[in-house]
Amino acid sequence: MNKGILVVISAPSGCGKDTIVNEIVKEMGDEASVSVSMTTREMRTGEEEGVNYYYVSVDQFKKNIENGEMLEYTRYGSNYYGTPVGPVKEKLREGKTVFLIIEVEGGENVKKIFPDCVKIFVIPPSMEVLSNRLRGRGTDNEEAIATRLEIARTELQRAVEYDYIVENDVLQDAVEDVKAIIKAEKLRINIMQTKLREVIKDA
Ligand code: 5GP
Repeated sequence: MNKGILVVISAPSGCGKDTIVNEIVKEMGDEASVSVSMTTREMRTGEEEGVNYYYVSVDQFKKNIENGEMLEYTRYGSNYYGTPVGPVKEKLREGKTVFLIIEVEGGENVKKIFPDCVKIFVIPPSMEVLSNRLRGRGTDNEEAIATRLEIARTELQRAVEYDYIVENDVLQDAVEDVKAIIKAEKLRINIMQTKLREVIKDA
């Protein structure tokens, strides 16, 4: 079997990266998987252990780093976030497409360890649309929205480090764009080597 593809997705808060990935995983079924990160932040209302994150103490998080259990990790705000390495490697071995929905620092570190990963940055159509979306969610006050927009500006500066940019204006278009990227990535020579060898063997 050909090996799987590791897809890093980053975007400022409010750009719909989770929605895009969830739609794709729904369509791809068993072929795809989203990595569940570990975090030291508090669980938010509506979130579930093992679904949105694995929620751990700072001590536990640091122990996991020491034990080499994290593929990457970062401090974002006052909390730690990281990707447990075991499940990612296992799913890639099974030939699956594995999504990491992580911030830019983590994206940079993953590329060092998995140079073949594909990095996609999701952008909003404009800063105005982004600020309207953040207001529309109704979860933040004006001050928190201003902070998120400031962080978004900084994160957007680093979008140039990514392999692809997907604009999320109409959700279904963004989903189709990411699917097209995955389709093309699956045809890359490093992924198709096994198949090529099979064909050459019988030539
Ligand atoms: P939130 O607290 O809103 O769930 O996430 C805050 C930020 O941390 C988001 O940009 C999210 O993508 C990022 N993040 C979530 N999990 C990870 C992870 O495992 N590693 C890294 N580097 N960032 C993560």
